[in-house]
Amino acid sequence: MSFNLATMLVESRIARPQAPLLYCGDTTLTNEEVDRASARVAGWLAAQGFERGSRVAVQLPNGPEFVHSYLGALRAGLVTVPLNPLLRPGEVAHQLSDSGASLLITSGDGLEGALAARVEAGLPQLPIVYVGAAGAADENAERLVAFDELLAGEPLERPEPTAPQDTAVIIYTSGTTGRPKGAELTHFQLYMNCTIAGERVGIGPDDVILGALPFFHVFGLSSVLNTALRFGSPVVLIPRFEPSAVLAEAARHAVSVFFGVPTMFIAVRQAAAAERIDLPTLRCGISGGAPMPGRSLEDFEGQFPAAVLLEGYGSTESASVVTASRSRQDRRAGSIGKPIWGVEVRIVDESGEELPAGAANVGELHFRGHNVMKGYFRQPEKTAEVIRDGWFGTGDLGYRDEDGYLFIVDRKKDLVIRGGYNIYPREVEEVLYAHPAVLEAAVFGEPDERLGEEVVAAVALRPGAQATPDEIREFVKDSVAAYKYPRRVHIVESLPKSPNGKILKRVLRQAAADGAAAHAART
Ligand code: ATP
Repeated sequence: MSFNLATMLVESRIARPQAPLLYCGDTTLTNEEVDRASARVAGWLAAQGFERGSRVAVQLPNGPEFVHSYLGALRAGLVTVPLNPLLRPGEVAHQLSDSGASLLITSGDGLEGALAARVEAGLPQLPIVYVGAAGAADENAERLVAFDELLAGEPLERPEPTAPQDTAVIIYTSGTTGRPKGAELTHFQLYMNCTIAGERVGIGPDDVILGALPFFHVFGLSSVLNTALRFGSPVVLIPRFEPSAVLAEAARHAVSVFFGVPTMFIAVRQAAAAERIDLPTLRCGISGGAPMPGRSLEDFEGQFPAAVLLEGYGSTESASVVTASRSRQDRRAGSIGKPIWGVEVRIVDESGEELPAGAANVGELHFRGHNVMKGYFRQPEKTAEVIRDGWFGTGDLGYRDEDGYLFIVDRKKDLVIRGGYNIYPREVEEVLYAHPAVLEAAVFGEPDERLGEEVVAAVALRPGAQATPDEIREFVKDSVAAYKYPRRVHIVESLPKSPNGKILKRVLRQAAADGAAAHAART
């Protein structure tokens, strides 16, 4: 059976050739234009003689060339491996060799790094296609191709007849807790996930979607780009997240749907308040990837009264969405909603037994359904550790209430155990976010000789706001049990984040450990 994700675009081109699909700065590309360009990229790729299923690494920011490369590779029956443009050559080398890439498409500015990565990966013959002007020379010049050459080739009209269970992408996890892992996702899984999740919030061709999430991450690729392709909604491409510029683009193109991670909603809301800009067309924000603090959600809806901000939950390994709220009426404060159609969730204890409903019954969230990844690419042991009998163990702790709404209390790895007591940082963070001076907060454990771990917080303040660490500590102390409040509060300029905006607690933990080691060395 033929089932190629790239057919979504072919369908849109047939139905509405002149409808806009991509807004990128002052350029607008229609369904037909994107279809033509990706057909030409596919034609060029097909002419290279790569075997079906070969991997094409695409290291580009959100822009038309990313979309043409992604769809071109799929159309040619190849697997796209999107890579973060900010990776260092060593990290690119790892992802190139881990995915066994046959080709790298990158930007001319990043060419020097790409050449270094190619050497480091032990792949000196790997062909590289570059977008824009070449920012470096290569002695192996015949292995370098300008992207324009791909656009000049013969188009491949019909997408290759891939099967539903064929891998479409290998996509790396965020690296929030360790080295990113390459998850294999199929044509069917990606099609189902954007279809079901998009229908849940009623996405249609009249929507304009904000493309601020990077497409090298599953949330951006599946929930933004694939959703736009699937429902024929234009997408506003944001190559680099900068809150004021994002806001201006969203206003210019009358954006109606904004998918993002919490730090994006916080930053855009902050910019809108400072610049007194409303987005009257924004009907819906969908937050995922990390917990959305209740206070920040209220602030966002206060700033953009036409919008509802809904929370969803997912991961790379789930082709994006596992659960989501549907509407204002359907949501419950602090909940990630209910499983989407085609996905089952259960909360299990350490021995794998399913726990009953109730906030006291916190266990690990497991899910199964159409969206459980095929596996980590070429890593059967690692895959077997997380997928058992079709159930994927997320490493996230949560519970289900009596009405079936799901709640995440925290990641297992972020749990702080202080003197034998379990502390979920997220609960303490919610209190920190309620402090009027706090813009962003992270709570984590620092090794402690006596207690095992001590609770520590790092906070960034709202612009112009004043507060001392003692004031903030006292504020939290009044709201939580004595063992939970942070004994140390660090006020920092900004919190470390992954390129897709997730707060990196492992960096904070490391900085705290380095600080403690330096302190010990001095004393
Ligand atoms: P790595 O696996 O490399 O450490 P990562 O887990 O951040 O990185 P992703 O696949 O991007 O990789 O993220 C999935 C994780 O994000 C989930 O397992 C969960 O911990 C977190 N997450 C996603 N949505 C939410 C949400 N709404 N609330 C709380 N946490 C969330």
